[in-house]
Amino acid sequence: MTENAGERLAWLADGYLATQLLYVATELGVADALADKPLNTAELAAAVDADAVVLRRILRGLAAERVLEESPDGRFALTPTGELLRADAQGSLRGYVLARGRLYYEALGGLLRSAKTGGVPFEHVHGSAFFDYLAARPEEMASFQGSMSARLSREARAVVAAYDFTRFRSLVDVGGGRGTLLEAILASAPGLEGTLFDQPEVVKDSKLPSHAGDFFVSVPAGADVYLLSRVLHDWDDDRAVAILRTCRAAMPDSGTLLIVESVLPELAAEQPGAIRMDLHMLLLLHGRERTEAEYAELLARAGLRLTATIPADSVTGLHLLEARA
Ligand code: SAM
Repeated sequence: MTENAGERLAWLADGYLATQLLYVATELGVADALADKPLNTAELAAAVDADAVVLRRILRGLAAERVLEESPDGRFALTPTGELLRADAQGSLRGYVLARGRLYYEALGGLLRSAKTGGVPFEHVHGSAFFDYLAARPEEMASFQGSMSARLSREARAVVAAYDFTRFRSLVDVGGGRGTLLEAILASAPGLEGTLFDQPEVVKDSKLPSHAGDFFVSVPAGADVYLLSRVLHDWDDDRAVAILRTCRAAMPDSGTLLIVESVLPELAAEQPGAIRMDLHMLLLLHGRERTEAEYAELLARAGLRLTATIPADSVTGLHLLEARA
């Protein structure tokens, strides 16, 4: 990063390029085509069915950002950053990139209108709520779920390292998505029985014990612990309290509720990753990230009290907020 103010600002303003270069290369399958060996533009264009002239300029754009390495003989190879675009890479960010290039990028077109008149940018652009839109479009839902899995596989290790799940016998992962976090938790606590709870189209192919439903209506009753990871940040305060109340109604009095979220810092520069998360919420949903005090207030409205706030190791300011009746 340059120290010159003008150059720095210009570089930031060109951020739109990075998102789309990564997206287009990923949609074409460039990284998978380069998995075995470096290729020149003609070979790569044939492998991914692209226009060689345009592709070369895209590849050089990615080489300038050190996602690819360009050799003097005209071949391109994956750098360690580029490796993460491969579908089967350990810690792959393929889904993360696809969701940003398609869903999030389009939604940004509504940000100015939101800034002037309020509302959700995604809804201004698409005319429907984010999850309704996804539910009607399996391909977009797959892209979003892929994005969450990519982030979660990084975060799951941090959550398991920060909290001892072996003390519980049963856990319901409410809004658990594809179960990436639940799998990591179950691996860390062999005696624990876990249930994945999410919308029917999300859990229908799950290999984990799962339950489909609506968390505004009910969740499976009687578990020792209810986990809400990256769920409350999707919703405004009243809807978040409604989800907490559904969980409270299902919990035994001795039960525990665990919230996993980015906790907002006092000053934005202290935790830029949490601030970015908050901007994703602004863009897509009626949700937001919150401070610890704001979570305590939501919990109190649902008849729960915050008993511990435990930081997890992550760039997004991830915390576990533990609550009891
Ligand atoms: N827990 C996962 C994580 O930590 O990444 C997924 C969080 S994702 C941001 C929110 C999840 O809530 C999605 O998997 C979505 O399908 C689910 N969801 C949204 N509305 C729901 C509802 N009414 N009932 C149950 N699940 C819902």
